[in-house]
Amino acid sequence: IRASASPRRPPGSAEGAGLSVLVTGAAGFVGTHCSLALRKRGDGVVGIDNFNKYYDPSLKKARRALLASHGVFVVEGDINDGRLLTKLFDVVPFTHVLHLAAQAGVRYAMENPASYVHSNIAGLVSLLEACKDADPQPAVVWASSSSVYGLNDAVPFSEAHRTDRPASLYAATKKAGEEITHTYNHIYGLSVTGLRFFTVYGPWGRPDMAYFSFTRNILQGKPITVYRGKDHVDLARDFTYIDDIVRGCLASLDTAGRSTGTGGRKRGPAPYRIFNLGNTAPVTVPTLVSILERYLRVKAKKNVVEMPGNGDVPFTHANISLAREQLEYKPTTSLEMGLKKFVRWYLSYYGYNRGTHTFNNL
Ligand code: NAD
Repeated sequence: IRASASPRRPPGSAEGAGLSVLVTGAAGFVGTHCSLALRKRGDGVVGIDNFNKYYDPSLKKARRALLASHGVFVVEGDINDGRLLTKLFDVVPFTHVLHLAAQAGVRYAMENPASYVHSNIAGLVSLLEACKDADPQPAVVWASSSSVYGLNDAVPFSEAHRTDRPASLYAATKKAGEEITHTYNHIYGLSVTGLRFFTVYGPWGRPDMAYFSFTRNILQGKPITVYRGKDHVDLARDFTYIDDIVRGCLASLDTAGRSTGTGGRKRGPAPYRIFNLGNTAPVTVPTLVSILERYLRVKAKKNVVEMPGNGDVPFTHANISLAREQLEYKPTTSLEMGLKKFVRWYLSYYGYNRGTHTFNNL
């Protein structure tokens, strides 16, 4: 009755939809932004994060403090802890789960493959088990990755394109995650939406990602390693600003539809969806560096080397027609604009002094 009486509310809008959301990986980069956005529009949010040491734990703690100041509590725990998840579902009748916890990064998989299996495979299954047994059964929206397209020549990448050539263990675990969530969808009636994010960047970002580590090194006068593809071709990425990704995540939650099972029993078909969330405007890595140089007012010391065969792909480019049509997803931030916001945050967060070229908080 309310829906027909009031003007249509676009998916992902700033107005709350009365959701109750468990956000996994809430102290992570994307998790922090999504949790804040949900809270700001009045939805209920509880976070869970294991605060692993993949990158600077103090940054995760600072994000947790930011979340706490906005009324979002983050439980410290691992998604492999089934008992903890069951307790959370017993206490809070979550309508949705936004699953962002994962071991990210393509190169780290060479050093620590087990952590990808722990978080991206075992952790995912543990979470889905808790979701399928919960009453009410929540709708699940989770982060897959553009990396599932792997070594793909058909650009821009569409959801229907092949995903059978992952270039890293990380990509393989995300691809496996798509199969696993699909299985829980059709066996147990879980509503599932998988989001293939394309290189997300912005304030409170991840120190292991190129735009972030380049910024640090450029300011410290240290060299940066810029990879180049075969035949001297520059690598390119469909860099996507965090606020655009957040709108895509909220729109996915708003349109997720219901799960149709309870206590592990299915009552009918539930939605299963996959969307690309990108910017559909790829930029080369040397262009990224030159934009950073301009904002930082420092010239980078570039060390250009051929890309080692350790998981990176030469380019990514999203076709976002499906998300445009079904989620009203419309990225609005160019790399120029987004990096300006990132650099402003970076300089202020680490207390950079342009006069003395020193950091107060690094
Ligand atoms: P992030 O590393 O900042 O956030 C992930 C969070 O999950 C971290 O805080 C980590 O401590 C937590 N975590 C990891 N394993 C856990 C476990 N077993 N139990 C509980 N918490 C755990 O990464 P992000 O950039 O915010 O990425 C969020 C999601 O989006 C991830 O699934 C990632 O694979 C995916 N993704 C990100 C990008 C990107 O460019 N940032 C691109 C494609 C996909």
